[in-house]
Amino acid sequence: MANRKAVLTKYVKTSHGWRHCPVVFSKANNVKAILVNGLQISPDKTAGPYQIRTYHGDQMRYRSVGTDPVEAVNQWRLIQITLDNPDLEIPAAPERGKTIADFAKEFLYARSLEPHRSRDTMDNYRVVLEEFQANCRKQFPEQIVQTDILAYHKALRVRGLSDRTASNRFGTLSTFLRYMNVDVKALIPKQTRRKLTQYVKKEVEIYTDEEVEDLMAASRRAYHKVLWQFLYQTGFRMQEAMYLTWSDINFKEQTVSVTSKVDLDFHPKDWEERTVPLVVDLSRKLAVWRQQDASTRLVFGTDTDKPNDKMLYALKRIARRAGLNCRQCESCQKTGAKECERFYLHKFRATYATRLLQSGVDLRTVQRLLGHSDLQSKCVTYSRPRAQRYKVQLIRLSLRCEAALSQPLSQHFWIEAHECA
Ligand SMILES: [Zn+2]
Repeated sequence: MANRKAVLTKYVKTSHGWRHCPVVFSKANNVKAILVNGLQISPDKTAGPYQIRTYHGDQMRYRSVGTDPVEAVNQWRLIQITLDNPDLEIPAAPERGKTIADFAKEFLYARSLEPHRSRDTMDNYRVVLEEFQANCRKQFPEQIVQTDILAYHKALRVRGLSDRTASNRFGTLSTFLRYMNVDVKALIPKQTRRKLTQYVKKEVEIYTDEEVEDLMAASRRAYHKVLWQFLYQTGFRMQEAMYLTWSDINFKEQTVSVTSKVDLDFHPKDWEERTVPLVVDLSRKLAVWRQQDASTRLVFGTDTDKPNDKMLYALKRIARRAGLNCRQCESCQKTGAKECERFYLHKFRATYATRLLQSGVDLRTVQRLLGHSDLQSKCVTYSRPRAQRYKVQLIRLSLRCEAALSQPLSQHFWIEAHECA
């Protein structure tokens, strides 16, 4: 006798890996919970599709029916009816195309194949696709309506993300929707689209001298002292500091470079290597730091000489210890002043750029020191004379940096946020 029962499960990532977990029904026969390792978990807290288990002879088969619980129960009922009534002819559901999840996988794969695709961009795509799918709960692209997109945007803002981030994510989502042949322009009127992409361009935040000094004082480990000073006096991006090796530092010429590390899968942003001056005091500190352990490859690696991706946590922790948390920002309010949004690594970069501009270094040069894409394409094909000219410039620049980075900061000199991103 064949097994005539269809079972609705959810394919869930558990602590033991992906498992088919039984669905617990409410009295009204809706999905109430998912039974994961013997515990009833809210369906919202489990990622993965609903799957219906049936038997064909002895063979167990699973069929995915999407992530929407209502749709999953409907499909399950339909299958159960066909199993209970083998003579009944029920028209098969119309054949549908690829699901949003299928498209998402395909989209990410296609993007990953494009040359010069940075890890940050891929991470960003991944985040947006996951968030949108979790939020919209539609299975097929043709089911997407205006409110799905608006609700996603709203959810981002409710979570406390800035208008700027929400705008960026909407842009990324639009790219994906277009990939699925969803006509965003037809779905959302122009005026609404404009609202979704609007954000106030904020003035650049920079650290004050006092804040930097307090951070230094509150840092117990030499590692952090050198790291903060490095970020502050080179304007390096976090990733660039993470993957900095000792061979990137030229103590003789007093320069530091951003270079590719193919084996670590690190490539400078916009695929542009660059060299910037090292101020004397920082150079000395780095030399002392090197003496502590001459065996590592990375300058700011972990104890096992791996790239350290916990720099931001350390900064937040030390800012808190130094009593610098503002108690006013959203993050401070939410966390009881345990974590302050006014402390982040990129702010060192903004401070660096601002100081150089303040001391009279022109914007083009500052952009070059920061490693900006718009100017960089020109640097790639540096001819020899130009390379030499840059070397001469570097020497001059090192003097400017020296002066600029030890001058007190004026709070009233700002540059546009995007100019130091
Ligand atoms: Zn704060």
